Amino acid sequence: MTTTIPLLHDNHNHVSLYAAFSSCIDISRSAPDAALALLRGLPEDRLSVVRGWKSFELPMTSEELSSLPPIILINFSLHGFVVSDSGVPFLETTVPEVASMRNDQAWCEANVPPIFAAYCGLAGLDAKKLGEYIDRMLPLGIGSSDEMTVPTIQALDVCSSSPYDKRLNYWVAPALYEKMDIARRGLVSGIKLFLDGAVGSRSAAIEGPWIGPGKAMFTYADDVLLAILRRAGAYGTGLSAHAIGELAIEQALSAIEVAVREGARFRTIRLEHVQYIDVNQARRAKDLGIVLSMQPNFTSDSIDYTDRLTESYLKRNNPFRMLIDEVGFEPGRDMLFGSDGMPDGIAYAATQALFPAYPSQRLSLDELVAGYGTAKGVSGTVTLDIDDTERRVSVSGTSPVRLAP
Ligand SMILES: [Zn+2]
Repeated sequence: MTTTIPLLHDNHNHVSLYAAFSSCIDISRSAPDAALALLRGLPEDRLSVVRGWKSFELPMTSEELSSLPPIILINFSLHGFVVSDSGVPFLETTVPEVASMRNDQAWCEANVPPIFAAYCGLAGLDAKKLGEYIDRMLPLGIGSSDEMTVPTIQALDVCSSSPYDKRLNYWVAPALYEKMDIARRGLVSGIKLFLDGAVGSRSAAIEGPWIGPGKAMFTYADDVLLAILRRAGAYGTGLSAHAIGELAIEQALSAIEVAVREGARFRTIRLEHVQYIDVNQARRAKDLGIVLSMQPNFTSDSIDYTDRLTESYLKRNNPFRMLIDEVGFEPGRDMLFGSDGMPDGIAYAATQALFPAYPSQRLSLDELVAGYGTAKGVSGTVTLDIDDTERRVSVSGTSPVRLAP
């Protein structure tokens, strides 16, 4: 069956980072043996930035890291990286802090924005790479995006001075916001915090137990988070917080409840991912007027992470039916959808929405489209091919795109 939908807005992506990465080697689609052969053949005289590393498919031993050419290998989830021994001196000259703290997982989880800035600096970003990356999303059904962690002021300037500015909403880490002048502050939708790790790096703040290694990683102690919210509540901007595990969601809700009661005000409050939110937390979020910004793409974590998550967590992931039917969240109003760039485009999200592992994760196509929303600054239509037998959705065509005047 085919159906036509509008060109959509991706409410959660990392546009400048992925644009910078576009000149990097991506091993996410390579078989482990092929990926390793490729890594071994990289140049010896400079640092190669390699993305798309799946640590569960290609574990890196210290022997391996001592024999490889200079590389930084960035986890598919963007949380976590390793550097080959020969790559360390390159990192020490360009991003000394990241180089010295690289083996401290807690530091790395607590410092995602500076690490993104390091990735962006190492890979390099310019207007051409930015435009090409955003245009590559058009045939995938995406016309505009929220850029969830603008890595540096230079990256903000590249984005905001380009013709693609109309198609981007910007979010920045609190430290970067504080460094920005009034004019730049006026360009951003709000500040973005990371509260916990990710399932991909076995560091999401779930109670557990994990199968195999795993540890709930928090960026902030409760009182530190509250202090940040008190301060940010006077900026007159929005707030967004990455919270995957139920413990991180709990920390976010408790801090927001206190800060708001004390008078902190935000243009909007979004919680990102909230994959393991429960019904009581959902009700509290609803009462606080919080927008849930979720990724139907990650419904497939319930299939991909049977090596680390118990059945109870596989089943609790992305409980869209509970959120919509029981608690009353409404896609497009207080529930937004995005991709996190894993992968880009609407096809994978639509596949996961219509054909999930668990019925509790199902979204109708109308709900999916409403949660993404129509693209801004550009318009067009996308034809989807829905294959009920293969349980898969693909994009079979897009109309010519019109730019907003
Ligand atoms: Zn993200």
